[in-house]
Amino acid sequence: MKTITGIPGSPGIAIGKVFLYTNQNLKVPVYPIEEKEADGEMERLFEAVEKTRNDLQELKERSKKQNGEKDLEIIETHLMILDDPDLADQVRKEVSQQLVNAERALEVVISRTVEALERSADEYLKERTMDFYDVFNRVMHHLLYLERTTLYEIQHQVILVSGTLLPSEVLTLNKTYVKGFALDAGGKTSHTAILARSFEIPAVLGLVDITSQVSSGDVIIADGNEGKVIIRPDRETIEEYVTRLTKWESHEKKLLELHELPAVTTDGHRVHLRANLEIPEEVESALIHGAEGVGLYRSEFLFLKPGEIADEQEQYEAYAKVLKGMGSQLPVTVRTIDVGGDKVIPELQVSDEENPILGWRAVRFCLSRRDIFRTQLKAMLRASVHGQLRIMFPMISGIEELEDVLNELDEVKQECREQEIPFDESIQIGTMIEVPAAALISDIIAQRVDFFSIGTNDLIQYTIAVDRGNEKIAYLYQPFHPGVLRFIRMIIDSGHKAGIPVGMCGEMAGDPLSTVLLLGLGLDEFSMSPAALLEVKRIIRSVNLHEAQELVDDIMEMQSYRDINTYVRKWMNERIKFFKY
Ligand code: PEP
Ligand code: MG
Repeated sequence: MKTITGIPGSPGIAIGKVFLYTNQNLKVPVYPIEEKEADGEMERLFEAVEKTRNDLQELKERSKKQNGEKDLEIIETHLMILDDPDLADQVRKEVSQQLVNAERALEVVISRTVEALERSADEYLKERTMDFYDVFNRVMHHLLYLERTTLYEIQHQVILVSGTLLPSEVLTLNKTYVKGFALDAGGKTSHTAILARSFEIPAVLGLVDITSQVSSGDVIIADGNEGKVIIRPDRETIEEYVTRLTKWESHEKKLLELHELPAVTTDGHRVHLRANLEIPEEVESALIHGAEGVGLYRSEFLFLKPGEIADEQEQYEAYAKVLKGMGSQLPVTVRTIDVGGDKVIPELQVSDEENPILGWRAVRFCLSRRDIFRTQLKAMLRASVHGQLRIMFPMISGIEELEDVLNELDEVKQECREQEIPFDESIQIGTMIEVPAAALISDIIAQRVDFFSIGTNDLIQYTIAVDRGNEKIAYLYQPFHPGVLRFIRMIIDSGHKAGIPVGMCGEMAGDPLSTVLLLGLGLDEFSMSPAALLEVKRIIRSVNLHEAQELVDDIMEMQSYRDINTYVRKWMNERIKFFKY
């Protein structure tokens, strides 16, 4: 038995067998061969191709059974690439002329093909690069006699152990079978962690090398509350954790009693608690946990599944589903596509930017793909007749960008009027404030929009210059850094001076340790994963605004996040009874 510590990524406890997912970071060996060995190398290659063909055929059958015809097109494309005689000829030439091993020759040929595709003017061809990489990866695993695991293989309850896990992979895996995640990499506000919390899957991240410490089939305990993984636990430890799990579940059940009560302090100060959603199906959980609307619907998740670019109708249906689900009175804040960083649309973006976090993200992406942007705005306007849809723009960094997106919206509105498409003429428009420059000019931005939502996940990342997904520097990612707190205060004050409500949809809004501080700073709306709502409500209902403001006065005088963390933790522990095992 061994315990390793990481970062608590998503609360809850999972006990089960490991499914080790290991198809990342493949190292391609390079070595010279003699002329007489060339045929042998090609034989090895054909053997690997044959095995890959069998895998793909099997996958096709399984996928047909599970999803009908839906994913077949991708698999067919992969089979076509695999059987391309020209590719095989090129590899043969590379092996015999350069006298290199089959792995190296294959790598060279695939890179050349992908480069040519990227230069092509044909969008369809450009979009095939990911398919080439996928096939390459499969063949390479067989060449190296490595076992390649795929998420499709998960057919029974497991804890998924992996180096990293992309948000798009979390979306596609079968959630009824995955009881927990334990990952080498990742930070608390990475989108993988956010999705784990949304789907209520316990997760421990930043474990550094758990992938080399376990094998598939090993029993582990993933404790997402404390950020620990226990490898091959003994019977006593398992029993102890089963008891903890039962206690945790009954604590969660008890919180459900609060779901219809308002989020109001003991002296009558009312705030609103809303849900962050990634997929429309989460509405149910939002309602169970008493959400008063949606503070952030991350629409980009409609585009992140491989092979799926949602068209206008699909988007309209998704937005309408959320609006109808929430009822006509509660606001539903749909954020325009926020891709880039750790969310890459496989069909539209290739993740080859040097600084993706500072790169082609969010509105920057939308303003350079106005076709996609306008389609989305139209879908939102069409859906707006079904309830209180609010449009929110992410990553606004300045007034020019804001004017540009607002003009685009005006034009799409005009188009709807001309085509007699009904929409909500008084639709509310807001921006996320998550770029430091936007925080500094929040007084100017506030003049032009109906609401603000503070995106602390990015605001902290950009303010402290700390990559939110990098476990090596996770210790620097501090919501209570005085610089961050000053920004939050500045944004709230700017919003209030302009008479608009200020919300927060970054993970800080759902962190119980921050609740009283944010109340004291004057935050109007807290938006978070549905499962976090009731604990935050419990805290709000047990304090008064005056004491929250006093707490803010005290901590705003402090100079270090360490002191603030200690002070807030002590303050909270003295007043609030937190769940303990
Ligand atoms: C944020 O940055 O705080 C936010 C809510 O957006 P995302 O996590 O999707 O970047
Ligand atoms: Mg953000």
